Amino acid sequence: MSQVLSPRFAFNPTHPFKPSVSATQRELIDLVRSKLDAGEYRLHPTTCPCGAEKNDALLSEIDRYGLPFKSVLCLSCGTVRIDPYLDEASLGDFYTHTYRRMYGMDLEEGTYDSYFASQRSYAEKILATVADELPEGGWVCEVGCGGGGALKTIQDRGFHVAGCDYDTTVMELGKQNGVANLFYGSIDAIGNAMPEVKFDLIYLHHVFEHLTDPVAFLNQCRNFLNPNGQILVIVPDIYHIDEIGHPAAVGNLLMYLHLAHKYNFSIEGVQRLASRAGYCAEKVVPDAELETPWSKSPELWVKLCLAAATGENTTSEPVGTRYLKYLKRTESLYGMGLCKGQIANKLETLTSPDRLWHKVKRVFAR
Ligand SMILES: [Zn+2]
Repeated sequence: MSQVLSPRFAFNPTHPFKPSVSATQRELIDLVRSKLDAGEYRLHPTTCPCGAEKNDALLSEIDRYGLPFKSVLCLSCGTVRIDPYLDEASLGDFYTHTYRRMYGMDLEEGTYDSYFASQRSYAEKILATVADELPEGGWVCEVGCGGGGALKTIQDRGFHVAGCDYDTTVMELGKQNGVANLFYGSIDAIGNAMPEVKFDLIYLHHVFEHLTDPVAFLNQCRNFLNPNGQILVIVPDIYHIDEIGHPAAVGNLLMYLHLAHKYNFSIEGVQRLASRAGYCAEKVVPDAELETPWSKSPELWVKLCLAAATGENTTSEPVGTRYLKYLKRTESLYGMGLCKGQIANKLETLTSPDRLWHKVKRVFAR
């Protein structure tokens, strides 16, 4: 471990990085900082879930909010993780009291419709990608289902559904919306309530990267998965950030480093950790025409199936250096405004009179 990716990733206690956030977010970021300083939030060392011996490159000493969390890249598989990371008790406190508001994701009355619409949009995309492989009337499970808007869409297509989440408020909305089998807690909560059910599809939409121990989770899933069933994992993809993304995030790795995402996976990282839990994993590419609010940023879609009894032989050839090079190159281009996605965003502004006019008005309003 040595240098950070570039000077802006260093922790500077005298001139700390100041993110542009709302006053509420600022308050919550300061709260996390004070809990860290007071030792109320405790950190413990982490290892890469690919199972390789610890051999990491330091990328950053801060997260996107300027909080002092270090991100490292596993030189074996290319997965980036926070190390050290919050222990279980600290994480529990963070997710219960801070997470949604700190990320500006609090649901307020009047925003439910757009929330459910966004959930339905990713359900459509998931169905378009895997429905062909599902038996008619099969069982589908979403881990981290929020308000269950996605499950509602899937249920309306004739599948049986179940979901679990830790956010009781949004799940209550889902129940009122007629979504069946929503349970508080982990996938175990579903298993306890419906022990006879085996799922044909278990999916996690922007949730897998939050899990403390993805290998343990996949081991647990084996109890609930049909032998021919599959798990679909959808996570952010930091290895395509040069190509697409919102104007503030395109090419900007710092935006992808934040405390709720313990991991930013490479495909090899997912394959190797999946193999440790007895699965084979392959990248799938959904139809790019199917847009969701998330597809404006790069996503990695990975399908996992139970490996044959002989076990899947994934190679463990180190690929991390290649990924580190990608991040270094992207950081240089980002600094010059020359990432492919940055250029595309600029061109889009220039070719859209409405967007250009909006920008001009903003300049004069200053
Ligand atoms: Zn690794």
